[in-house]
Amino acid sequence: PITPTSKIWMSGEFVDWDDARIHVLNPTLHYGWGVFEGIRCYETAQGPAVFRLTDHIARLYRSAKIYVMEPSFTPEQVVAATKETIAVNDIASCYIRPLIHLGYGEMGLNPLPSPVEVMIAVWPWGAYLGEEAEENGVRAMISSWKRNDPNITPPAAKASGQYLNSSLAKVAAVKAGYDEAILTSPNGHIADGTGENVFIVSGRKVITPLLTDGPLGGITRASIMRIAADQGYEVIEQHIVRTDLYLADEAFFTGTAAEIVPIVEVDDRQVGSGKPGPVTRELLEIFHRATRGELDRYQEWNEFVQQ
Ligand code: PMP
Repeated sequence: PITPTSKIWMSGEFVDWDDARIHVLNPTLHYGWGVFEGIRCYETAQGPAVFRLTDHIARLYRSAKIYVMEPSFTPEQVVAATKETIAVNDIASCYIRPLIHLGYGEMGLNPLPSPVEVMIAVWPWGAYLGEEAEENGVRAMISSWKRNDPNITPPAAKASGQYLNSSLAKVAAVKAGYDEAILTSPNGHIADGTGENVFIVSGRKVITPLLTDGPLGGITRASIMRIAADQGYEVIEQHIVRTDLYLADEAFFTGTAAEIVPIVEVDDRQVGSGKPGPVTRELLEIFHRATRGELDRYQEWNEFVQQ
């Protein structure tokens, strides 16, 4: 269950957690026309730092552009509001959920007449795929649900309604006894997990699906690609099919909520040794140190709440 904090930012004002409400006839609730982000703030020696906040808010505004929503706040104002929300809640380490959504007033499938609202909430949130996942890895299945397609609901956007696709796959995987689902593009290439990007390791190659196969352009994905290249691995974006996962030396998920999680089994086949592999471990350790502000090389990723 969610652990409440004190205040939520709603279109320019701080509201008590329990009073942060919308009307039941809010159109976003009915049709899913909203865009959001998932961001993490980490405790560092120099105080709380939001990981790649500016990049996350830039993606939020790209999503809003795709869904023709123009908030009355600039990205810079939302970056500042995010830091203020963390500060007023006096929390060092948290998950951050900004959402751009429609306001009350109109109903129907044309969102254009509706006002556009912005909210930001923060709360403590542990390991998304469970405390054990990072240590022991997770079991994944290839889902029969296909990933969103650019001409259906565009995966370039992180939109509320698009997560019906992720949730259908997640429910099927959990009911079948797996930890997570991996979705393929309509033409059968691996796209991503339900809330994570996918990587495989083959020798010195670190491989991840092309964005044209439908994964979200993950910020953790981009960070891991940079870290892997800095560690001397050959980083490749290419088409991947399900058997590439079965036959990889290692595989792992990346995402803000999940962080880096080894995939030790796909469709009941062990990946590599069936245990989290050394390359995954190496990248995971560096990622953790980077989020905690311990690495000068990646210092620009730590956006401090108090300057
Ligand atoms: N794919 C999907 C479908 C997601 O929802 C997420 C989480 N935002 C990711 C990948 C990972 O993206 P990020 O690393 O930016 O959190």
